[in-house]
Amino acid sequence: MNIILLGPPGAGKGTQAAMLMNRYNIPQISTGEILRAAVQNQSLMGLKAKEYMDAGDLVPDEVVVGIVRERLQADDCDGGFILDGFPRTLPQADALKQSLEELNMPLDAVVSLQVETDVLVERLTGRRTCRSCGKVYHLQYDPPAQNNTCSCGGKLEQRDDDCEETIRNRMQVYHQQTAPLEDYYRDANLLSVIDGMAEISDVHEQIILTLQNC
Ligand code: AMP
Repeated sequence: MNIILLGPPGAGKGTQAAMLMNRYNIPQISTGEILRAAVQNQSLMGLKAKEYMDAGDLVPDEVVVGIVRERLQADDCDGGFILDGFPRTLPQADALKQSLEELNMPLDAVVSLQVETDVLVERLTGRRTCRSCGKVYHLQYDPPAQNNTCSCGGKLEQRDDDCEETIRNRMQVYHQQTAPLEDYYRDANLLSVIDGMAEISDVHEQIILTLQNC
């Protein structure tokens, strides 16, 4: 099962990717998470990526293309993968196509989650993530039992790029650079569009139904 999850920031790609990972036992490959880990480790790549990420801009294609190409060659991708947050530009999609051909890993489906902009902004501004285990909460829709603290005891924090000004830029970047990928994958007969505003479990079921028909 080789899958891409498309959609704007806050559409639920990470949540749905984690559910698919558990269901199909295939890895979630999130370029955002890989880059955030690099920033935290202060690696050379992380130091370069940080300024783009803080501004809500995209990290240069050659950086993320290299990350994904290497990641896809790990043993745990033999049974499939879920790409979350990649590709985000047409050159990334072309590079991925070439890598997948070379690695003999054809794509099965590209699932695009659709969510209205106001809802996206509300979801992102209220999002809090546990520093220790990575669990994601929402201050209004899924608040922690104890203020600012995860069920594991870890401290909750807001992502640096989840402030309103940066969110607006991320939305613009999405519409300009990533949204054209829908046509790219529609033309390749791989695209399924799903309502990402439904309940999390309903969105998951819709994705499963879509994948069963691939
Ligand atoms: P995400 O966690 O997917 O929302 O990504 C957070 C940030 O990481 C983005 O705003 C970009 O700065 C960077 N990023 C993640 N994935 C990509 C990608 N495929 N291409 C370029 N930049 C990316």
